[in-house]
Amino acid sequence: MRYSALKLLTQALTGNKGWKPVWRDPEPKPAYDVIIVGGGGHGLATAYYLAKQFGITNVAVLEKGYIGGGNVGRNTTIIRSNYMLPGNQPFYELSLKLWEGLEQDFNFNAMVSQRGILNLSHSDAQHDGYARRGNSMHFSGADAVLLDQDSLREKCPYLDFDNARFPIKGGLWQPRGGTVRHDAVAWGYARGADSRGVDIIQNCEVTGFKIEDGRCTGVETSRGSIKANKIAVCVAGSSSQVMGMAGMRLPIESHALQAFVTEGLKPILPGVITFGAGHFYVSQSDKGGLVFGGDIEGYNSYAQRGNLPAVEDVCEGGMALMPMIGRARILRSWGGLMDMSMDGSPFIDKTHIDGLYFNGGWCYGGFKATPASGWCYAHLLANDAPHELATKFQLNRFKTGSMIDEKGMGAQPNLH
Ligand SMILES: Cc1cc2nc3c(=O)[nH]c(=O)nc-3n(C[C@H](O)[C@H](O)[C@H](O)COP(=O)(O)OP(=O)(O)OC[C@H]3O[C@@H](n4cnc5c(N)ncnc54)[C@H](O)[C@@H]3O)c2cc1C
Repeated sequence: MRYSALKLLTQALTGNKGWKPVWRDPEPKPAYDVIIVGGGGHGLATAYYLAKQFGITNVAVLEKGYIGGGNVGRNTTIIRSNYMLPGNQPFYELSLKLWEGLEQDFNFNAMVSQRGILNLSHSDAQHDGYARRGNSMHFSGADAVLLDQDSLREKCPYLDFDNARFPIKGGLWQPRGGTVRHDAVAWGYARGADSRGVDIIQNCEVTGFKIEDGRCTGVETSRGSIKANKIAVCVAGSSSQVMGMAGMRLPIESHALQAFVTEGLKPILPGVITFGAGHFYVSQSDKGGLVFGGDIEGYNSYAQRGNLPAVEDVCEGGMALMPMIGRARILRSWGGLMDMSMDGSPFIDKTHIDGLYFNGGWCYGGFKATPASGWCYAHLLANDAPHELATKFQLNRFKTGSMIDEKGMGAQPNLH
């Protein structure tokens, strides 16, 4: 069923009785060409592009819970391509371009809103660093504007410009950045993949891999064994656990990350704002709530919930940046499970086991990558060769010394 204004009108006039389920609920088949483990944004996008771009439709997405229950439905919805390093920048710019055409492409309203993103600088050195980042963004065709303090005072007068510890010097503004309704992305990709023949199987946990003579030939699941020619793991915060079942140890740690939303306020924020002197980022939802977050929890965990010290740390960041936020009441908070890689950059790669592929290590930033990750993972699965914009996301980069240390923080997940 295609959605359109006419369809909406007809349904409204006929009691909304003609809507069909957005995707089927099939039983797993005994075998598939490709099995995707994990029905988050990346797994569903991979299935969608496999079917749409490469005509590979004998595909199952196996999800242990429900579609949208993982990080794809828990993030703070920020999209941007303000990366600097050559291994990252063109990949995230591809993603932003795909976001720009996504709703028309999968015929689903994901509320893509390019309201802009502002990274604040608090010292001359940081401001110079942003000028450098903006220039390297321009090299990949991305948009970036360096703003001085005066133009920021006009744009966001409520920021604490003259804070004695963290005075605001300026900022890097990416007008094409913004926000997207996160769970609608999962639903849109699920619907698009399902309508092309992909089986989306919820409540189906992968509990093991069948590996014979160095080749992966299928998976064990809570709903029985399923064979496949290719098995593509895409489980974000559960990466270490799932790949551990194939005997692999990854350069990834899992940590919880929390997010918060306040009561609805009148429109006040021009877009997304990030604090450059602490870890705090905030945007305003269409309902008016301030949506914000900060650091991961310091300890390793597989729980989708966090603790009070991180709540205090995030709220302190907010107060240091924009004291008026102290008047807003927090309505809800929640947590997700981050797959923190050791250089802060992701993996989209084959493994040493034939037929077994891995996508993960997205840290705080995998939502914005969803379209490009699915696009490049589908390319890898279809061609057995990496997409030209994802060649650096290899598992062996720590062995060869070719890390993509975007923030220059080294192997410290808490600083990425
Ligand atoms: C609070 C928070 C804020 C964030 N903010 C942003 C942001 O503003 N911008 C941004 O770009 N990124 C952000 N992120 C990161 C982003 O959400 C993630 O990097 C991204 O969603 C991960 O990819 P995914 O959508 O595929 O993950 P998920 O949705 O977590 O999908 C993985 C799926 O695998 C399933 N799974 C796990 N184990 C198994 C198994 N054994 N068998 C079958 N299925 C299994 C899980 O149930 C899950 O549904 C944020 C994350 C959080 C938690």
